[in-house]
Amino acid sequence: MAYKIDPVKCIGCGSCMHVCPVMAISKDGAKCKIDPAKCISCGACAGQCPVGAISVDM
Ligand code: SF4
Ligand code: SF4
Repeated sequence: MAYKIDPVKCIGCGSCMHVCPVMAISKDGAKCKIDPAKCISCGACAGQCPVGAISVDM
């Protein structure tokens, strides 16, 4: 599974960054991005996003 952030939907609130247990999410300008090398696919970030910008490919 690969979690990803849609940069068009992301409003850069940072909520996902704060819940990620492995700090896989960082700021990329005004948006956030997920480092796939660090992500353990726990899904915590997707549950936090207020605009539904985080999706997962199964
Ligand atoms: S799925 Fe989990 S590990 Fe991956 S970026 Fe989101 S919170 Fe972090
Ligand atoms: S929680 Fe959603 S809107 Fe907020 S920074 Fe993360 S991806 Fe962007």
